[in-house]
Amino acid sequence: MCTHTHTHTGRDMTGAAGYITGQQLTVIPRSAWKAVDVQTRERLHEPADKLIIHHTALWSCWSPTQSVAQLIHIQQAHIHERSFTDIGYNFLVDQAGVVYEGRGWGIVGAHAKTHNHTSVGVAFMGNFNDESPSLQALSSLCALIQHGLAKGYLQPNFVILGHRDVADTQCPGEKLYSSLHTLKTLINHTS
Ligand SMILES: [Zn+2]
Repeated sequence: MCTHTHTHTGRDMTGAAGYITGQQLTVIPRSAWKAVDVQTRERLHEPADKLIIHHTALWSCWSPTQSVAQLIHIQQAHIHERSFTDIGYNFLVDQAGVVYEGRGWGIVGAHAKTHNHTSVGVAFMGNFNDESPSLQALSSLCALIQHGLAKGYLQPNFVILGHRDVADTQCPGEKLYSSLHTLKTLINHTS
């Protein structure tokens, strides 16, 4: 289990009901950030064997207002500029540690060519070339992973990778990439 306990402050969205996982993690559903509805959703055939970490390379998000604006912006960009059917990521996490549902669990994403059918893509909201991920964000990711393992969405022997491990990109940014060691240690000691 994750060793960090969460103090949840400022994560009440106006009238938005999130769902609570076993680790007291609140995941804000698509409906709460006014995601455009999507008709076609392709399911993963098996539990994911990789978790691929990204950054959005956009503005830092510490409040629901900043985060929801960014979610809407990204979904629009992915649909209209990149011709994806939906926001590409499975989940997004902001610097306050709030997790937002993108495509969600068990759905094929559009975030890492050739790995979309075998992975879950999680994006940290901000630009982590210079900014460091917050402890809240890392803790929430840890709780999300525990939930994914408990529910069988992730293979027990899944691996955590940065986008740059599988593609020619700077993503997820130097600061976030270097803190993945901490995250892996946290997971290894707790699962
Ligand atoms: Zn990426």
